[in-house]
Amino acid sequence: MSGANTPSCDVLVIGAGPAGSACAQMLARAGLDVLLCDRHEFPRDKVCGDGLIPDAHRALARLGLADAVLARAARTGRLDCFAPRGGRLAVPAQLAVLPRRELDEMLRQAAMAAGARWQAPLRLEALLEGADGRVRGARLREKGEAVRDVRARWTVLATGADAGSLEAAGMCERRAPSGMALRGYAHRSDMAAQIGGLQVVWHKALRGGYGWIFPAGGGRFNIGVGYLHRQGRERDRQGAPNLRELLATFGKVHEPARALLQDGAAPLDQLKGAPLRCSLGGARKSRPGLLVVGEAAGSTYLFTGEGIGKAMESGMAAAQAIVQAGSAAGGDAEVRAAYEAELALLKPRFAAYEVANRFNEYPWMVDLVAWRARRSPALLARLAGVLDETQDPSAFVSAPGLLRLLLQMR
Ligand SMILES: Cc1cc2nc3c(=O)[nH]c(=O)nc-3n(C[C@H](O)[C@H](O)[C@H](O)COP(=O)(O)OP(=O)(O)OC[C@H]3O[C@@H](n4cnc5c(N)ncnc54)[C@H](O)[C@@H]3O)c2cc1C
Repeated sequence: MSGANTPSCDVLVIGAGPAGSACAQMLARAGLDVLLCDRHEFPRDKVCGDGLIPDAHRALARLGLADAVLARAARTGRLDCFAPRGGRLAVPAQLAVLPRRELDEMLRQAAMAAGARWQAPLRLEALLEGADGRVRGARLREKGEAVRDVRARWTVLATGADAGSLEAAGMCERRAPSGMALRGYAHRSDMAAQIGGLQVVWHKALRGGYGWIFPAGGGRFNIGVGYLHRQGRERDRQGAPNLRELLATFGKVHEPARALLQDGAAPLDQLKGAPLRCSLGGARKSRPGLLVVGEAAGSTYLFTGEGIGKAMESGMAAAQAIVQAGSAAGGDAEVRAAYEAELALLKPRFAAYEVANRFNEYPWMVDLVAWRARRSPALLARLAGVLDETQDPSAFVSAPGLLRLLLQMR
């Protein structure tokens, strides 16, 4: 156990991924007494593609960390999309790759530098409730059998895609995840020049999901596959493929993946899978005394499985609600309403990504988009706008949007 023995605080933040650390930093900056805890000691690994898309860059800038993170990350200016019938498209974007072991430690350190206290390992066991049912902190288990009760004015649940933690907090509405993804690291310094952008590959043999190769610098690559359930089909796990087999298939349909996966001189390490919780679904977002942030609240995008940026955004939104709506006369209802209103603003974008998940179902559609965008600089610019969130994605994924795509000549 590290850190001081702390029986109480203003805000207890459980989970120190991007959502929890971003939230803790913002709260501590505002002068609140914050205790951030995690079931793991840090630095710790997190199964992820390690890709930082533009929303993550913006969130890191708000946290004062963009320069420090980018100085350590492998940066690139394009997303290379590969479609099943040979379509290729390079979408310009501000992108970077930094293994989560490093990124999450930087975020946690920044929260501590802002004044948050830290204790780990501490695992959520149960919430503490007052006679009125309001959450008043949590019972946390240390390594071994010892448990401690931490009292808090507010508790923030930032426990990621772990359904067990949501259940322990009584906030789980759907145990099944929205999808699963598997990643490993391969080392091939001779391929560093060949793979410059973040590669995402759609293929009918990967139907329902996609493969990726993200260059992490120094000839190291994060390579993986993801499978996302169709909207409303999260309970139907029958059709979900075996991800190790899907990764092997990726190696058969995409030559750089084959080179990374099959070359005995560069063995794959840390091959690990993890669930994804998407579309702001599957969990209640708040109850008196408690806010749920990040992937615990479903803040990862369906279709792409990207969630680091939105996890940080939701953590910061929760902090803002506690600081602003909770100050002076503000009570539970105001804080919850302020937080849920911020999440509601994000809903249309999540809904568009849900519809866009049909590109994973019908990968030939990616060929169509690639073919059109290569002939239309305006369309390519709009796609780049979707990625950096200056363009409404629903303009692409709606039926009229797709029709315009077909007809638009410039
Ligand atoms: C294979 C894979 C690839 C991905 N690739 C990308 C990508 O390239 N880019 C991207 O943006 N997103 C990616 N994602 C999604 C991204 O990982 C998540 O959106 C992001 O990690 C969510 O952040 P979070 O802070 O909400 O949760 P997490 O990062 O999961 O952090 C939750 C923390 O809570 C702790 N915790 C859990 N339960 C408890 C408990 N009971 N008590 C105490 N602590 C607890 C955990 O130890 C963890 O540290 C990927 C996901 C997967 C599975």
